Amino acid sequence: MPAPRTITIVGGGLAGLTLGIGLRQRGIPAEIFEAGTYPRHRVCGEFISGNGPAVLQRLGLLPLLERAGAIHVHSAAFIAGTNHSPVRKLSTPALGLSRHLLDAALAEEFRRLGGELHQNSRWNPPNQNETVVSSPSPPRSGGEGRGEVVLGSQGEGVIRASGRRAQPTEHGWRWFGLKAHARNVNLSADLEMHVSADNYVGVNRINGGEVNVCGLFRGRPGGTRESGFERLRGKPGLPLHEKLAHAQFDEHSFCSVAGLSLTPQRAADQKDCCIGDAITMIPPVTGNGMSMAFESAEIAIGPLCRYSRNEITWREARDTIARACDAAFAERLTWAHRLQWLTFSPVTRSPLGKALLRSDTVWNFMFAKTR
Ligand SMILES: Cc1cc2nc3c(=O)[nH]c(=O)nc-3n(C[C@H](O)[C@H](O)[C@H](O)COP(=O)(O)OP(=O)(O)OC[C@H]3O[C@@H](n4cnc5c(N)ncnc54)[C@H](O)[C@@H]3O)c2cc1C
Repeated sequence: MPAPRTITIVGGGLAGLTLGIGLRQRGIPAEIFEAGTYPRHRVCGEFISGNGPAVLQRLGLLPLLERAGAIHVHSAAFIAGTNHSPVRKLSTPALGLSRHLLDAALAEEFRRLGGELHQNSRWNPPNQNETVVSSPSPPRSGGEGRGEVVLGSQGEGVIRASGRRAQPTEHGWRWFGLKAHARNVNLSADLEMHVSADNYVGVNRINGGEVNVCGLFRGRPGGTRESGFERLRGKPGLPLHEKLAHAQFDEHSFCSVAGLSLTPQRAADQKDCCIGDAITMIPPVTGNGMSMAFESAEIAIGPLCRYSRNEITWREARDTIARACDAAFAERLTWAHRLQWLTFSPVTRSPLGKALLRSDTVWNFMFAKTR
């Protein structure tokens, strides 16, 4: 039997590390190129919900998160202007864990399993301006023999798990995210989601008795400049501002990210074999991006094992992964996009919004459809 082929993963975030672990658990050689180092803070609500915990359970990673200090998050409330939802129990508990700890724990596990982790190593495709073209694979049963097989910009055996694609503006808006950890915040629910005209800020419990304060903001290019902490605290008079009046922020945990794009994309439309945010970013209001990173990594494990063992071609592996990701995420992304629109719409802060926030039917429907 020839030795299995090495899988190269570009990006050691949640998607890349989870995939790397899954491959190593099955004895497949895997290496990860990560531009940064561990531990590091990330802009993220650090609220793992939906299918994410189940995927982690199947990959045997839940105990790792528990050892890292993950807590169970049981309840949530939405606050939009003067409109409040009731505090609702989540149908399945979510997990709250700092990315500072989570990414480092997964990186350590990947290394423990024999994976090669190259930190401070930014991967560049062989020639950034050109698409990699390989010689044709032999036609499989019923396949057509073509002159050349276009593999995408990264080449065979390379998975793109490099996160979101930066885009300066979208429909005339600049989208950016801010995050910091804080203490001394009294929450009415484990997750409070505060919505206003140009942002939403989640405040939720995480490990170590801290809360994560993380928001998605939009502004017009060249708009007003406020400090990150001012933005996270919200405008005076808003419930968020009162909530964070005595918050003690951990300045070292502050981070920001700009150039976000929230228009849904399909995996099948990408040139490369992509997982996680590299396919598309689900609006953060759903708290489901981490789950999609775990889920897409799990989807990719089987086809990549078969490619590595020379049972299928690269094209077959890439297409199988893309199709399965699109099937898993298409409907969720459509509803997430609608929820994102609704969240920023004045409707949410109107009398109709009050009724919507109070409706258990609307909550249950939206919660189920966006995960
Ligand atoms: C404001 C905000 C709040 C959010 N809140 C939540 C939440 O509460 N719950 C939730 O589930 N999700 C949330 N998300 C989404 C979540 O953070 C992402 O979906 C998740 O991090 C995606 O994981 P990933 O591995 O695909 O990408 P990332 O975690 O971004 O990892 C990509 C990695 O690739 C590396 N990289 C990039 N380019 C290269 C290169 N060329 N070479 C080498 N390395 C490279 C980067 O350094 C990075 O480490 C939020 C997002 C935002 C913006």
